[in-house]
Amino acid sequence: MLAEKLLLQMLIVLAPVLFYSVLLEKSRWAESPYLSGILNGAAASLSLLFSFYEYGIYWDLRYIPLVLAVLYGGTKAGLIVFASLLLTRTYLGGDTLVYGYIAIFLALSVLLLVYRKFWKCTPDKRWKMAIVIGFWPVIVQLCILFAIVEEKQIIFPVTWYQLTMYCVLFGCIQIIGVGCAAILNESIIERSYMKIEIQRAEKLNTIGELAASIAHEVRNPLTVVKGFLQLMERDQTLNSKQYIPLVLSELGRAESIISDYLNFAKPEFRKMEKFNAADFLHDLALLLNPLALKNGVVIEEIYKKSVLLYTDKSQLKQALVNMVKNAIEATDQGGKVSIILEGSNAEAFITIKDTGKGMSEEQLERIGTLFYTTKDKGTGLGTVVSLRIIESMNGTVQYDSKKGKGTVVTVTLPAEESQVEQDQVTKELVHN
Ligand code: ADP
Ligand code: MG
Repeated sequence: MLAEKLLLQMLIVLAPVLFYSVLLEKSRWAESPYLSGILNGAAASLSLLFSFYEYGIYWDLRYIPLVLAVLYGGTKAGLIVFASLLLTRTYLGGDTLVYGYIAIFLALSVLLLVYRKFWKCTPDKRWKMAIVIGFWPVIVQLCILFAIVEEKQIIFPVTWYQLTMYCVLFGCIQIIGVGCAAILNESIIERSYMKIEIQRAEKLNTIGELAASIAHEVRNPLTVVKGFLQLMERDQTLNSKQYIPLVLSELGRAESIISDYLNFAKPEFRKMEKFNAADFLHDLALLLNPLALKNGVVIEEIYKKSVLLYTDKSQLKQALVNMVKNAIEATDQGGKVSIILEGSNAEAFITIKDTGKGMSEEQLERIGTLFYTTKDKGTGLGTVVSLRIIESMNGTVQYDSKKGKGTVVTVTLPAEESQVEQDQVTKELVHN
């Protein structure tokens, strides 16, 4: 029976960690100290309510959520757990109520003093420190227990030795509980850091590759401008005015290529905004046109519906840049990559179609797995990052491919139909 009760207690106090690991993937709320406080507060209260009676004393693991909330959520989370423990303890009542209050207060106050030091430790030292900190509530509990025994002169049905052993065992379980939860928390934190790091690495890689093609592309207008200037210098009689618009338009093109690139490369801020999907895709096509030209591929744009998207523009750009880049890289000279936009009730369909080398069944199955690449300089991160981003926007991605024929990637995103009717636009981006 005791084992069952202990298991129930363990489950209750570890549940917030499990919830947390799920929420961290799905919601931005997960980092809020209030959520940590509420989850751990509920666990602490439940632990108190389901405490078990043995040897004339109530036993529970209520301090584990308190320790975890203070260490991982900070003062606010700790105070929420403190409040919920006080309320639940008051509800339970009994003649040792005052001792209960004192114990909770003592446990919290020292935790609040040490938690800043905790965050100065390296991650692999943190769980060890959590275990050391976990001793404090156990010591408080034992002192309070002996104070109650002294004052109330309780007669136990067991000897002092047995009771002490029981207390030590229970204290060990609490400390092990804190240790397990801290290790779980650390692995969750590490995983989320790794996710950010992978995203950053892929972006840096993409930026590097785009920079090479863009530098090449910017050189062309500059050569044209240089040519005109040399011509004007040599022939003073030349009516130079007629060339100025040409020079300006070449410089304008170089400028827009560079500003598109900088727009992509600059650090992103999480910003939700509403924008026209067709305009967005056109900018994307312009950004990738230098790369397409370098590979001898034509980008075709077909916009059938006018739809509005509401999401983080730079994140979406990162996701789609990689898909279009993959399409361009898979396509041989003379091939075509199409960016197609369609829409139907509350959904936008962005299709990236290429006439490239396509993928076999096995390749299709492996796409989206970390580090899977068939390229010499590939990272195998791009698709993983793209899929994650689209998923976090509540969208889906579907890959269809035939070896030797080409690939069709369909991205579905939640959208609004725009009031303005979109004339069906089809254009090919070519070198001007
Ligand atoms: P990387 O581009 O660095 O190789 P990705 O995750 O972007 O990594 O792509 C993984 C692999 O998926 C590529 O190496 C390629 O073999 C395959 N792939 C992705 N998109 C396409 C496509 N449109 N056509 C053919 N193969 C593709
Ligand atoms: Mg790629």
